[in-house]
Formats: sequence, C-alpha cells, structure tokens
Amino acid sequence: MKKINNAELNSNNTDEIVEVYGWASKIRKLGNLVFIDLRDRSGIVQLVVNSDNENYEKVLEIKNEYVLKVKGKVIKRSSPNKEIPSGEIEIEVIDIDILNISNPLPFDIKSENVSEELRLKYRYLDLRKEELQNYLMTRHKVTQSTRKYLDSLGFVEVETPILTATSPEGARDYLVPSRIQNGSFYALPQSPQLFKQLLMVAGFEKYYQIARCFRDEDLRADRQPEFAQIDIEMSFVNEEDIFSTVEGMFKQILKDVKNIDLPLPFPRMTYDEAINNYGTDKPDTRFDMLISDISSVLKNNQLSLLQKEFIGAIVGRNSEAQFSRKKVDEFAVLLKNFKVDNLFFVKYNNGFTGNVANSLSEEEKESLINSLNLKNGDIVFIVAGTKKQVLQALGALRLSVAKYLDIINKDIYNFLWITDFPMFEWSEEENRYVSAHHPFTMPKDVNMLDDPENCYARSYDIVLNGYELASGSIRIHDRNIQSKVFEKLGISEEEAQRKFGYLLEAFKYGAPPHGGIAPGLDRITMILCGTDNIKDVVAFPKTQSASCLMTNAPSKASEKQLKELGIKF
Ligand code: ASP
Repeated sequence: MKKINNAELNSNNTDEIVEVYGWASKIRKLGNLVFIDLRDRSGIVQLVVNSDNENYEKVLEIKNEYVLKVKGKVIKRSSPNKEIPSGEIEIEVIDIDILNISNPLPFDIKSENVSEELRLKYRYLDLRKEELQNYLMTRHKVTQSTRKYLDSLGFVEVETPILTATSPEGARDYLVPSRIQNGSFYALPQSPQLFKQLLMVAGFEKYYQIARCFRDEDLRADRQPEFAQIDIEMSFVNEEDIFSTVEGMFKQILKDVKNIDLPLPFPRMTYDEAINNYGTDKPDTRFDMLISDISSVLKNNQLSLLQKEFIGAIVGRNSEAQFSRKKVDEFAVLLKNFKVDNLFFVKYNNGFTGNVANSLSEEEKESLINSLNLKNGDIVFIVAGTKKQVLQALGALRLSVAKYLDIINKDIYNFLWITDFPMFEWSEEENRYVSAHHPFTMPKDVNMLDDPENCYARSYDIVLNGYELASGSIRIHDRNIQSKVFEKLGISEEEAQRKFGYLLEAFKYGAPPHGGIAPGLDRITMILCGTDNIKDVVAFPKTQSASCLMTNAPSKASEKQLKELGIKF
C-alpha cells in the first residue's frame, strides 16, 4: 500500500482501506473514543479509535508530535468539519505503529504568542506550522516557474563559485581566510556579476542562475545577510529585450503562483520623476498622495522656519479629522531621521487651522487651495529644507500616513520600471563619486562622463508595491569606456587591475554587447506571500545581528583552526 496524502482523502474514498503517515497534532478523548488529528505535509486527517479496538491501549500512549503509521478504513463522519479538505471523513484505525516518540515541544507550534528567539532556535519545529510550510511551498513554485520560463526561452542555468574574489556591488564583503595561503582571503560573492559577464564573453548568450549572494550590511526586516537572486544576463540585447523577457517571467510567476493575469507591459517612470513625485526611487504606486513643490506658494511667508531652499507638501485627502495634534507629533518624530525638525500642517475645512495656519496670508491660502486642489476635510503636511531632505522626508511620511489611513490596496501588484538612473552618486563618506549601480554600467551618453552630476546610466530597477525587486543595466563592453568610468570613480589603473583585472583582460578578446538584471527571489516570494518579514520565506534565516540561533553561527573557532589559518587575535 502506498502512502496517501492525508488531506486528499475525502468521501470518494469511503470504505477504502488506506495507509497514512504523519504526526499526532491533536489528541482528544471523548467517552470511549479517541480522536487524533494526523498531520502530514498536505494537511490533517482525523483518526478514530474505539475502546473495543485492539490498538486502544497503544493509542492511549500517543502524545502530541508522536510519529505514526496507520492502516485504517475511511468512513463518513457523523458531523463533518468544513474547515479542512478531509473534513467529511475520518479513518477508523485497523493497525497503528508508533514510528517515533517526541518530547513535549518547547513551544506550542500553533500558538501566536511565542518569541521569535525561541522559534528560530527550534526553526525545524516552527517550520511544521502550516503557514511557514505554505511560504516555502510558494518559494518553490516561484523557482520552478522561473526555471521553466527561462528554459523555454533558451536560457542556460550555470552555477558560479561561492569562494571567490570581491565583486562590485559596493557592500561590505564576507571574507573567508585561506588555510593553504595564510594571510589571503576569499570573498563570498555579493552577486555573480563578473562571472555572468564572463559567461557572455564565453558565448553563452542567455544565462540565468538562482544565485546565492552575501552582503555584510546592517540588516532590516526586508534584508538577510545571504539572499537569493534570479540572476540573468543576455548578449546582443538592449533595454527593451531585457524588459520584455523579465516582464514575461513575472507574468508567468504570477500566473503559476497566484493565478493572476498580470497586464503587460509594466509602466515606466524615470528616476527623476520618482524622486520628485514620491521622494524615493522605489515608489509605492498603489496610492497617490504625490509630493507637491509649494516653494513658490510660500516663498514670502512670514515664518522664518519656512524660509528654506525647498518647501514640499503632501495632502491627506478627506482625513483631517483623523489627525489630532498628538498624532501629527508622532509623525513628526519620523522626520528626525532626515534631520527635519519641524512638521508643519494645515487642515482645510471652510478655512484653515493647524500650526502654520496663522502665518498664511489670504493670497497664500488662495494659492494653496488652487495648487493642491484642496477640498474641505483635507490635511496638508508641509516640510521645508534642502530639496533632497524634503523629498526624502515627505517620501517616508507619505508611506506612514497611507498606512495609518489604511488606503493601500493590498490585493494589487503594481510592478513598475524605474529608468534613467544617475550614473554617479557623490559619497560624503568616501569624498568621491561612486557608481549609483555598479562600475560596469554603460552611461547613456559617453560624452557626459565629464559632467558626473548630469550623467545618466543605462540602468533600471523593477519596483513592486514600494519594494526594490531588481536592479540591472546594459554593461560596458568597451575597454576604453570602462577605463574612463574607472577614472571618474577615482579607481586607479592599479586598483582596477587588482580587483577586476580578469574581466578587463577578458574584454580584450571580443566581448559582445550585453546586459542583465537580478530580481530578488526572497523579496518577490515575500510579497506574493503577503508578509513583510523576509525571514518568513527563508528556511533557516538569521537574526538582525546576523546570527543563526539554531546552529549558533557565527561562533568561535578552535585554537587549532585559527593556527592553521594563521590568525591570531
Ligand atoms: N549584480 C547586480 C546586483 O546585484 C544586478 C545586475 O546588474 O544584474 O544588483
């Protein structure tokens, strides 16, 4: 007899003799009957044992999470359970084997009130929970769908090394000391960037890999130190080829995983539009509340605190009643992250109230109403400062206000391309220009390299519901352009040779024009699962401080290991 998935049994199986396996997930004794919920990956089926049954004594020994093998007869339940697929039937036990026993669990896996610490320490028990199993099943579906789709387009899956040299994403590397060459280190790949470009030089034309990437960065709810990318590179392509390939891939994934027909093509927005209207390069376009530049409206305002380079505003439509003075103060705290001290606001309801209402002249009121199209019930949040500061602060405020007002439609998937990124960003820390994407990105116009503030790149991101889902670019395949970009980045010939010499060497031997992209697998899965905690979609995740509470990694190395590696503390 073959193992049957518990949850698949239903009234069509009535009177069949079946064999089922699983864990005792709930045990109830009612009079002379014992009921056990037997759980396997597919779900639950109910077992029933009568005190006349020869197995009765054995069944009384069974405790939660014991592992069971059961032969029994499928019978109709007298009172069906509509909550579970197998709810119309139960299994009358003929034979039962206890395959293994279990200690009482350190926590109730069905309970919501268990600390994350305990759940991560016993992750394999937490993973018995249906919700987490479903998340990992979704992840599996996403990877299967991706592989099927890319294979159908002629992509070749190639694995690249984990023990490697530094890669160019600009985060901190994880280093691995070499035993054979004391004092030398491998770097774990921040991405397979250079390898995938080399695969283009090698002639593979269409590459992909579900690639593991490692970045030693400060962690947030949507970031893990190791994560997976659907890493893609293509030769002889331009942006349009990459866009249509990736749009098709996401259409397939959403169809396979959610049975949703995603409309194509994805909308596009330039980086400048995104920053000016949403204050971020990853705008959540599921709601409006765009940022308005009201500098000219308030340029003569009597309040000196408003007299800054830039004055911006967002409007909470028809929601002024939901903002008490105290509530506004709570939102003001958020702005401290952007070194903004004051959150100004006015409420419009047959006239103005709010902390700057008294400073508004009649003319300013009139022009606020017109420029922001104000209606009774609206609230206007106003921030003054440098342009960058104001846009960033209002971008963050926009999200918090929308969450508070609960105006975000959670059932839609707003994919969006962001294009025309700047080529360079000024780094205060390093006192030089750094790449906005990475140094192998092709500029839009090579002649603009001498004007780094106004030079744009052939790079693009995919944003989904406010999350950056992917970055990519058309790459430089010309050695002279590459040298010039290194020069602008202040990377000396010697440093370029030391770090990326093998790629520069490869470019001497007929590098095809190429480009690519790398959507984050964890992020897309997270969004499709409707969770905002990336740990939920990673089988064995790490904590905020990058440790694994189950294995205790990272941990101290033994004296012997350190000695072999030539490391002394
Ligand atoms: N390697 C890049 C990254 O990880 C993606 C790409 O350019 O394809 O962001």
